[in-house]
Amino acid sequence: MIQHVVSASIITIGDELLIGQTIDTNSAWMAVELNKIGIRVKRRVAVGDDADAIKAALDQEAVHSEIILITGGLGPTADDITKPLLCAYFGGKMIVNDDVLQHIHQIFTSVLKRPLLDRNLKQAEVPDVCTVLPNPRGTAPGMWFEKNERIFISMPGVPHEMKGIMEFQVLPKLRDQFQLPVIAHRTLLTAGIGESFLAERLIDFESSLPVHIKLAYLPNYGMVRLRLSSLGFEKDVLIRELESYFQSLQEILNDVLVVNEDIPLEEVVGRILVRHQKTMATAESCSGGYIAHLITSISGSSEFYKGTVVAYSYDAKETFLDVPHHTLEHSGAVSEQTVTAMLKGLLKHSGADYGIATSGIMGPGGGTSEKPVGTVWVAVGSGTAMETHCIRFRHDRKRNIELTAANALLYLLRFIERDVKN
Ligand code: AMP
Ligand code: MG
Repeated sequence: MIQHVVSASIITIGDELLIGQTIDTNSAWMAVELNKIGIRVKRRVAVGDDADAIKAALDQEAVHSEIILITGGLGPTADDITKPLLCAYFGGKMIVNDDVLQHIHQIFTSVLKRPLLDRNLKQAEVPDVCTVLPNPRGTAPGMWFEKNERIFISMPGVPHEMKGIMEFQVLPKLRDQFQLPVIAHRTLLTAGIGESFLAERLIDFESSLPVHIKLAYLPNYGMVRLRLSSLGFEKDVLIRELESYFQSLQEILNDVLVVNEDIPLEEVVGRILVRHQKTMATAESCSGGYIAHLITSISGSSEFYKGTVVAYSYDAKETFLDVPHHTLEHSGAVSEQTVTAMLKGLLKHSGADYGIATSGIMGPGGGTSEKPVGTVWVAVGSGTAMETHCIRFRHDRKRNIELTAANALLYLLRFIERDVKN
């Protein structure tokens, strides 16, 4: 076994990928899994169900990578051409594979309870020059080819089926065949500082990094995630070294650090609440339940999250959150007074220790010169103290909602951090 960095290419096949009808989630998932076992994904290519394009991609990726993973084009319909094409490409002929045939029979008779068509039986035919990778989750098997010291692995496009074949066949086989390095990552989240300013602060740190440790900047929602990645063959040494650089990074960024793990903000909020046995609730107007969605996506959130009131209309704000009618009439729904009243009503009715209230104009319509589209008021606080923030976003509706949620969660996190210290 040779010790070197093994590189892979991913080819995804399907016209649906090129017209944007299907988002190529297969490549992203495969890249993560390959990375975990120490294989570096060098290139990703998407091509249509077109013989010349597929052949050209195979030729080209074999120049770049030792392992070429392919998904798509294995269905029983005429638009899926990958299998006969691969058979010809590797100089084989099609033969019926008895195990696959038996598996297909079993699926049709006991699972689908449908008659078997000739085109389904055809799925049991495989090139005689490949190793068959069984697909317990579907009818099209995976195929493993080797040619000129390159490995080509073809799998169905259906994500669930591809994942099964990767997990139980491909990844273990690749681990056996190569001596793979360890790839380790450490990630932290910062807030309140833009990536250019971060980069300025980190000039010395970056130049101190050895070549096998890389620093990546991943900005989103006005916050920046920083990832340190290291690659090497001696796991213990590598982890120790990465840890020491990560420690320095945290020290340099101490004042803007949110969390030193790769977890979403809502989980950071959840953790601090659980640690201090506190609870929270939300009153959402402009974010429409999106904050609730983020929080309830975390398993175990019932431990700290009471729930949300989506109070969109004046009526709802008055009925469910006790916002006084004159506050709405006098200051408007998008105002400091309204979010403060929403938060008070929320804390009273929910009994939560902490809360968030949001109200804003998400666009594209509804803005005025005084309160343009993107104006958002957020209140966060507890029964004893509250703070309000006015933010101006300049994005589309969806992103304005996401940004409202991210900022509100950050305000609350900072509020709780200060509160539990006192
Ligand atoms: P196929 O193996 O080409 O018959 O693919 C079957 C189905 O899998 C397609 O209709 C898509 O819905 C889905 N699919 C194919 N390729 C991808 C991909 N790269 N990412 C996510 N889904 C895919
Ligand atoms: Mg297809």
